[in-house]
Amino acid sequence: MQFYSTNNPDLRVDLKEAVIRSLPADNGLYMPVSITPLPDTFWDKWQDLSFADLGYEVASHFFQGAIPEQDLKAIVHDAINFDAPLVELNESISILELFHGPTLAFKDFGARFMARLMAYLTKDDDQELTVLVATSGDTGGAVASAFHNVENTRVIILYPKGGVSDLQEKQLVTLGGNISALEVEGTFDDCQRMVKACFLDADLAKKHNLTSANSINISRLLPQSFYYFHAARQLAKQQLDQLPTFVIPSGNFGNLTAGLIAQLMGLPIANFVAATNLNDVVPRYLADGNYAPQPSIATISNAMDVGAPSNFARMQNIFGDSWDAMRENISGLAFDDQETREAVKAVKEIHDYTIDPHGAVGYLAAQIWLEAMPEARTIILETAHPSKFIDTMDEVLGKGTTEIPERLACLADLEKVAKLVKPDPQEVVDFLSE
Ligand SMILES: *Cc1c(COP(=O)(O)O)cnc(C)c1O
Repeated sequence: MQFYSTNNPDLRVDLKEAVIRSLPADNGLYMPVSITPLPDTFWDKWQDLSFADLGYEVASHFFQGAIPEQDLKAIVHDAINFDAPLVELNESISILELFHGPTLAFKDFGARFMARLMAYLTKDDDQELTVLVATSGDTGGAVASAFHNVENTRVIILYPKGGVSDLQEKQLVTLGGNISALEVEGTFDDCQRMVKACFLDADLAKKHNLTSANSINISRLLPQSFYYFHAARQLAKQQLDQLPTFVIPSGNFGNLTAGLIAQLMGLPIANFVAATNLNDVVPRYLADGNYAPQPSIATISNAMDVGAPSNFARMQNIFGDSWDAMRENISGLAFDDQETREAVKAVKEIHDYTIDPHGAVGYLAAQIWLEAMPEARTIILETAHPSKFIDTMDEVLGKGTTEIPERLACLADLEKVAKLVKPDPQEVVDFLSE
């Protein structure tokens, strides 16, 4: 199986290079040379498979034999050991709960799969692997958990000071061992820029055997496509005429790109709705064809505070750089914090369901979509458990209304270990050499 760079269609690398190096030297993003529709034999049985087996079938088709069957099966089963249930709010709206993994956000799917794949691909290497990752909230926790205690690997997480919730931060700064946290006096975009600068420094990358765990890593996207199949088949069981419309609360657009990959593999999807907070560079692009990245703005749906979405190049690539083609498949809608708070409240009052601020942005988009398309069957991706944003939830719904699962609650009393740094790539270079 081969990959090319979105900046150079002629460049070719193998799976290990694409997964471990993460970012091509030309600053593009890796994409598989071909993504083909799943065969009829898959569709004959897809309804009857366990979630993990469904994932394995999709992965096996995607990797085209690059990983031996039994090894791939073990990786998928080990990574996807929790469910993604579809909860129906009413006839038009269902919620796909993606927070049943160890760190309570959908990032667990990608991080757990990637950690196992990386360990598999590097099992015969001598040099220690250094995973460098910038997080706007949930990536860091998922990656830290997925790699914690993995031998011959260390993880350095960069996160914006004051830019993540208290419990999100606890997931980054309390594990210790092979996990270190850098608290950056800047924004998520600064963190992302610092990480990118380190990768583009070829000598540094080689010296420390750097690899990235951001959603720029292609191996994180594939397992995220599994749950699009899983959700669609849960709807398909009801033998409806309408295909699902996926509503995706988006920041770096990895989740949405994973949906596009599922579609390329033949999953019938009516449409995608990209829902954002005020960091609305993609909705604006879809409206006027002008792509204008901006500094990120802080919101209560902080995991989507991204001013320059890193997967945009992949999306453009999938649509052959055609604005019209992208617009036919994806619609974009953006909402502010006040609307988001009201949506959290409304979902509780109308549906007796506790939705987190990111899912609430999706709910707002689904409402607008359904006004125009009353027959649509929307599936909102609920990207994190509401308790990860307990301050906002308590403020909107009242203290004590939102339950905190034990695996999150137990972090509150653990000691924070993080190094405060300036938003300068040199800080990471220095830390690497310490
Ligand atoms: C990461 C994240 C998002 C954004 O996902 P992208 O794939 O970056 O678009 C949305 N919601 C939550 C809770 C997240 O953690």
